[in-house]
Amino acid sequence: MLPARFVRFITILCICASAQNVFSQTPARKQRIIIAASTVLDGKGGVQHDTHIVIEDSKIVDIDPKAGPVDYDLRGMTVLPGWIDAHVHITWFFGKDGKFAGGGGTPEEAAYAAASNAWLTLMAGFTTVQNMGSPITMRDTIAKGMLPGPRILTAIDPLTGRGEKTGTPDEIRAYVRKQKAAGADLIKIYASGGMLQGSMTLSQEQLNAACDEAKKQGLRTLVHAYRDAVRGATIAGCTQVEHGLGATDDDLRLMAERGTYFDPQAGLLLENYLLNKAKYAGTPFYPATEEGFDVFQKILPMNHELIKRALKIPGLKIVFGTDAVAGAHGRNAEELIDRVRDCGVDPMAAMVSANSLGAEALGMSDQIGAIAPGLQADMIALDGDPLKDITAVRRVVFVMKGGIVYKNVARGAIPAYAGVQP
Ligand SMILES: [Zn+2]
Repeated sequence: MLPARFVRFITILCICASAQNVFSQTPARKQRIIIAASTVLDGKGGVQHDTHIVIEDSKIVDIDPKAGPVDYDLRGMTVLPGWIDAHVHITWFFGKDGKFAGGGGTPEEAAYAAASNAWLTLMAGFTTVQNMGSPITMRDTIAKGMLPGPRILTAIDPLTGRGEKTGTPDEIRAYVRKQKAAGADLIKIYASGGMLQGSMTLSQEQLNAACDEAKKQGLRTLVHAYRDAVRGATIAGCTQVEHGLGATDDDLRLMAERGTYFDPQAGLLLENYLLNKAKYAGTPFYPATEEGFDVFQKILPMNHELIKRALKIPGLKIVFGTDAVAGAHGRNAEELIDRVRDCGVDPMAAMVSANSLGAEALGMSDQIGAIAPGLQADMIALDGDPLKDITAVRRVVFVMKGGIVYKNVARGAIPAYAGVQP
């Protein structure tokens, strides 16, 4: 008898293989698909009832309750735009010895692991992610439709602050231009040290140069920042602040004033470290022993407090990013639950943060993040109503990306990650 998880894997493969147009990127004639839905969250905070969504090729072309015939009947589910995760490390995995391998291992292991992470992420309802590493080939392979995965925007090599050693402002500008030439969609900047201590690792002048040059090159900047680096990144005109522990109310207000996007993490990242501490312990940049991970338990409530405070700042744009690392791929939606359950985020605001607001932060509002004519047909369906029960985000039963159906399973189907990794 085949092991149950193997059967599930085969079943899912068959669903992928039977999805229309997976391998054909230039269909000879327009393909029209009509989805019937009883509840549609439009991604911008609106709700529509009892309607039909019309898709031609990769785009939504109409929303019309009279359109027919219906190809997919998703009545009884909640239909919404595919989610956007603003911060993932999609190449990171656990190696053969069970230990965290970063994006390392042999090229073959690394490639299969990254492809698996991409597939798990898509099955979990995330149709676009922003990656902090450099899977340029994977990004382009997925974009061509040769590999199932979310649409990927990616940084290549990060700019890691090392004080004066980072370089002069001119050298930093040249580094940013080099990233652009290599095909980066964004620049990742490390502007501060650890979660609990350490000051800025780039001077204000260096940070100004990095974010200004990126802007000139048409690239967005995502800044890993704690404490004083939050203000520094905001003053430098960087696009988005990641993490943000130690930010004061004044820092948060300044971000709101300047339109800087904020991407704090409520729980998944640290919960995942605690769940997998045996696999992370003793690997580079992580505590040497499992006991060393106790500190993350103490930091969790500090993150909740930060988000609760951020929610009170008028106009602050809080986007959705999980910082998904090995063990968290495919469980990205847990962060939505954490934000609602532990931080008091309104469930609709949580959905919007991973839909239209996320798209705005990527500069892609005209392409993704909402269910509206002219936009990409990136759509998911949940078995349940996330506005009443946020845990419905775990029950993704339908995934369409760019008009292609990658998942269409029965209610109660076991999430893909349950059969593949913890
Ligand atoms: Zn990260």
